[in-house]
Amino acid sequence: MSFRKPTDAQLVQHFFRKYYEKEYADVFVPSDFDKREFGYTPFGQKIMVRHLSFKSFEDLHKTLVKEAPLHVYRSAAIYRYPQAPMEEKGWIGGELIFDIDADHLNTGCKPAHDYLLCSSCRRKLVEKSSKCPDCGGDVIEVRMICDMCLGHTKMEMAKLIDFIETDFGLDDLTLSFSGNRGYHLSVSSKEVLELGRAERQEIVDYVMANHIDLRMHGLFGGTDAFLPGYDDPGWRGRLARETKKILDSLSDRRSSVYERLEKSLGAKTLEKLEAINSYWAARPRWDLLATGRSGKQLISLTAVAVENSISHIDTVVTTDIHRLIRLADTLNGKTGLKAAVIKPEELEDFNPLNEAVVIPEQPTIKLRVIHSPQFILGGNVFGPYENEAVKLPAYAGVYLMCKGLGTLAND
Ligand SMILES: [Zn+2]
Ligand SMILES: [Zn+2]
Repeated sequence: MSFRKPTDAQLVQHFFRKYYEKEYADVFVPSDFDKREFGYTPFGQKIMVRHLSFKSFEDLHKTLVKEAPLHVYRSAAIYRYPQAPMEEKGWIGGELIFDIDADHLNTGCKPAHDYLLCSSCRRKLVEKSSKCPDCGGDVIEVRMICDMCLGHTKMEMAKLIDFIETDFGLDDLTLSFSGNRGYHLSVSSKEVLELGRAERQEIVDYVMANHIDLRMHGLFGGTDAFLPGYDDPGWRGRLARETKKILDSLSDRRSSVYERLEKSLGAKTLEKLEAINSYWAARPRWDLLATGRSGKQLISLTAVAVENSISHIDTVVTTDIHRLIRLADTLNGKTGLKAAVIKPEELEDFNPLNEAVVIPEQPTIKLRVIHSPQFILGGNVFGPYENEAVKLPAYAGVYLMCKGLGTLAND
């Protein structure tokens, strides 16, 4: 994805600069500021300028106003010499970071808004290619933001926060919208700062239930005499509560859980399980499930319970101790939206399609839109557009130019 014309990039950069001049106050400032590495991607370039460090937030702010970059990053790590080449930086420690992005999730809506498009004949391409096989035109990778994707990533983030706060007992969390299709979480409690790659991998494994062995929790004839109860800590409680939730949802024949279990267990068995559910009120009655000859019911139910309880994080991000991450409260050059910091308790009500819009409405921008599915931004519905000239509020025009779907129209 890139801007269609240099003039598009110039106008978007103008709005970005205005933001850093006028709006970029009261924003997220990383701790140990002068020990962080910073980096940014300038407009019109693919290469990141990195290994930067700043003495103070004011110095960074000045640079952002001057350069008005497309993307701004900072290290999760703190270094003795943040400007030095990687091997000489002197790693002191680093926040524990998580990235949840719709790009890595299976959301049913993606085929409707993610595809390859020829910028000149506007044909949708079936296979990945840098040029259109029909007309040789440039190919645009269309990846729109969608409500459903954002809802999905939000749910995954809520699960993650529960793991971090409840299971690990950590506070000091910074939660932010990515500015595009997901959320970021960084944990700066002192207990995590010095964790190495291997320890971070263990946290990933825990959150994603890698190598979970339910026999260790007393199921499937395991050694533990106590079976998981609703109030148990950690994965035991999660398993019990989620299995109860699944049993509850069996009364809805159209629920996705019902459809999934019907395939493996059949409708008759699900009817029996629905009857068993009434005995699960006070405590989980695992004994009533395990009676099957092969334990098939228990296998199917717990498999879904585990899958539903996992937080689907981007695992590579968390284990990379030198990672640069987007600096919260800066603008995302893929959308023009702000990577806004959110209080964890406000996540549920946060609507990025309203609250992350910081580019103003005025002036109106006249664009030739190559192609755009319908999208919602700033409380308004736009499109769909197909090779037409439209007048848009600045924030919507910026969004389409950042996505490469619109270009300034000549009057
Ligand atoms: Zn074409
Ligand atoms: Zn979607």
